[in-house]
Amino acid sequence: MIIIMLDNAAQSEIAAVEEKLTSIGFQTHPIYGEKKTVIGAIGDKRQISMSEVLMMPGVENIVPIMRPYKLASKELKQEKSVIEIGHGVTIGGEKLAVFAGPCAVESREHFLKMARIVKAAGANILRGGAFKPRTSPYAFGGLEGEGLKIMREAGDELDMPICTEVMDTRDVDLVAEYADIIQIGARNMQNFKLLREVGRHNKPIFLKRGLASTIDEWLMAAEYIMSEGNDNVILCERGIRTYENSTRNTFDVSAIPVTQELTHLPIVADPSHATGNYRYVAAVARAGVAAGADGVMIEVHDCPKCAASDGPQSLKPERFEALMKELRGIAAAIGRTI
Ligand code: PEP
Ligand code: MN
Repeated sequence: MIIIMLDNAAQSEIAAVEEKLTSIGFQTHPIYGEKKTVIGAIGDKRQISMSEVLMMPGVENIVPIMRPYKLASKELKQEKSVIEIGHGVTIGGEKLAVFAGPCAVESREHFLKMARIVKAAGANILRGGAFKPRTSPYAFGGLEGEGLKIMREAGDELDMPICTEVMDTRDVDLVAEYADIIQIGARNMQNFKLLREVGRHNKPIFLKRGLASTIDEWLMAAEYIMSEGNDNVILCERGIRTYENSTRNTFDVSAIPVTQELTHLPIVADPSHATGNYRYVAAVARAGVAAGADGVMIEVHDCPKCAASDGPQSLKPERFEALMKELRGIAAAIGRTI
C-alpha cells in the first residue's frame, strides 16, 4: 500500500509513520517529491489497523497497490526513474544510453580496440561478457576475472561505465567490484537467489527479459531485486521465443510502451540478441528508439566471423557508426538526444 503524506509533512511525521510500519514488520520505501512524500509499505496488511495509520499526524490517505509488483510499479512512483551510473552517465532521462562492445571479452588488445571504436562512434557504456552463458558446455565461457580487469581498464582509460553479466551468486561480489552495471542475462531472469543477491548491492542492475517470460514475470524479477533494497534496475527487451524462426528471437517492440505504462524503471532495447543477425540489427534498433526505449545495446566486432561468441549478430564498426547517425535523427524527432 501507499501512505500519502500531506503536502509539506514534517520529516518527524514521515519518520513516525515509517517507525510504526516497520515495528509491525512492514518494509517501508519513502519517495520524496518536491512537495509531497509518499511511503510505499510492503507487508502483511492483516497486521495493521488502517485507521490508526490514517489518524497519524501528516497522513493524508492510504491507497492499495493493485499490481503484484509494488516497488517497481507506477502506482507507487509515477515519475520515471533516472538511474545514475557513474562516469557522468544516467539512464532514463532525455539522453539515450548506448551500450556497445563485443559479446565476449576476448583479449585485452581486442577489447581496448573495440572500446575505443565504439566510444568514437558515440557509445557511452561499454558492454562485454567475462562470464558467458553458453548453450554448449564446450563453447568459450569467457575470461572470467581476467575479463573483468580488462573491462575495468578500458572503462577507466575511456572514462566510460562498463556493463557485464554475472551468472552465479558466488561471483556477485567480484563482478560488483569491477562493474558499473551488473547484467542479469535472459537465462537467469528467474534465478531468484541471484536476483536477491544483486539486490543487496547498490550497483545498477541490467535485467534482461527471460527467453519466454511475460512482462509481469519480468517485472516480478525486478521486484525481487528492489525488495532487497536496490532500486536501480534497468530493464532490457532482448527478444522472446516465438514460433518464428527466421530470427533468433522475436523483438517485442510493444514491450517498450507497455512497460513504460506499468513501471517507472527505464528500458533498453537489445536488437542484437533479439534478431541474431547483423542484417536486421539496425532496423530493430531504430524501431526500439522510435518506440521510446531509453537506450540500445549493440554488439560490435571488427571481425564477426572470428568472434568467440555471437559473431553473426555483431555489427562491424562502420555499420555501428552509420547506425549511430540514424539513431541521432530518430532521437531528435522524438525529443531525445544521444
Ligand atoms: C549477452 O548480452 O551477451 C547475452 C548473453 O544476452 P542474453 O542474456 O540476452 O542472451
Ligand atoms: Mn551476446
